[in-house]
Amino acid sequence: MNRRKFLQTSALGAMMTAVSPISFSAYGKSTVKTGTPGRLNLSFAPYELQLKHAFNLAKSQRTTTPDVQVEIEYDGLTGYGEASMPPYLGESVATVTSFLSGLDLNQFNDPFRIEEIHDYMEKVAPGNRAAKAAVDIALHDLMGKIMRQPWYKIWGLDPSKAPCTSFTVSYDANPTEQKAKIEEASPYKVIKVKMGLDHDKELVEAIRRSTDAPICVDANQGWNVKEAALEMCHWLNDRGCLFVEQPMPKDMIDETAWLRERSPLPIIADEFLQRLPDVRRAAQAYDGINIKLMKSTGMHEAYKMAVHAKALGMKVMLGCMTETSCGVTAAAQLSPMADWADLDGNLLIANDRFDGLKIVDGKVTIPDRPGIGVLPLKA
Ligand code: MG
Repeated sequence: MNRRKFLQTSALGAMMTAVSPISFSAYGKSTVKTGTPGRLNLSFAPYELQLKHAFNLAKSQRTTTPDVQVEIEYDGLTGYGEASMPPYLGESVATVTSFLSGLDLNQFNDPFRIEEIHDYMEKVAPGNRAAKAAVDIALHDLMGKIMRQPWYKIWGLDPSKAPCTSFTVSYDANPTEQKAKIEEASPYKVIKVKMGLDHDKELVEAIRRSTDAPICVDANQGWNVKEAALEMCHWLNDRGCLFVEQPMPKDMIDETAWLRERSPLPIIADEFLQRLPDVRRAAQAYDGINIKLMKSTGMHEAYKMAVHAKALGMKVMLGCMTETSCGVTAAAQLSPMADWADLDGNLLIANDRFDGLKIVDGKVTIPDRPGIGVLPLKA
């Protein structure tokens, strides 16, 4: 979608939600923004992400992901943000636009008051993590643009330490389709597979027939029996897997701790944890955590989670939802702190709106641009 179409859709989004602090329709006829000078001016629009391939997860399949694109204008600069809402997280276009409509960011005259703005958002409503992340990402983009620095630099990180990203390959009953999916992953150094389905071993064996690339496994809570999960961890270890993400349901903490004690592969928490206070809890049963901006309410808390996990001796994985390059590039700023990255969300969609991070020789390559490092794509 080009910018004009986006703004037109935005006007529709603003009408759908009845009131927004500044509706896109206010400047829908022009790309010149007319927000209150010296104040934070928020606007947003629903944007459905089209997946290149149907996503087969342990408990569902889908071809689109609901998403809301956010802009915060401040003194002539625009910060971009995004909320992506895969159904299992419980947020939707309706909840995100409702939350954003209820925010009065116009009361703030300084985007650097990020702690204060997060406190304010928590007071407006609990939950709404993706909606809060969208605001947080846009604020980081603004702050970085004001400082004229990318966030990896502001955080003191070395971009050459960014890891390779994994690329997700899902199971397909059709052997030709399955082969095509594996071939699509060939430029990447690490392959991620979603498990907990009926064909877990067939998928790994199909990949091994094509490539020796290391495999990360995400069971998406799909294994219910700890002994069978342990057996699978050994089987995967013998086939060059790196770790297993969320092998068992998130409430099976004792069973996961039992598995962690015995597994030859590190066990990583994903659905188990969302935000900063969950990191310490995760340390009881997991070797590492998967941080995602849509769970953590954005970059501000994601950074704190990475620092906390490292202090506890845990591994850090950086993930994403299916997102445009906006959310994924924002996450990539933190990637030099991660042991593993799973930042392929933008590669899985057919209608990206931004130019951002690049995967060069399999490695996460952060753009040398201020803020979160994205440029809106022209038509
Ligand atoms: Mg996962």
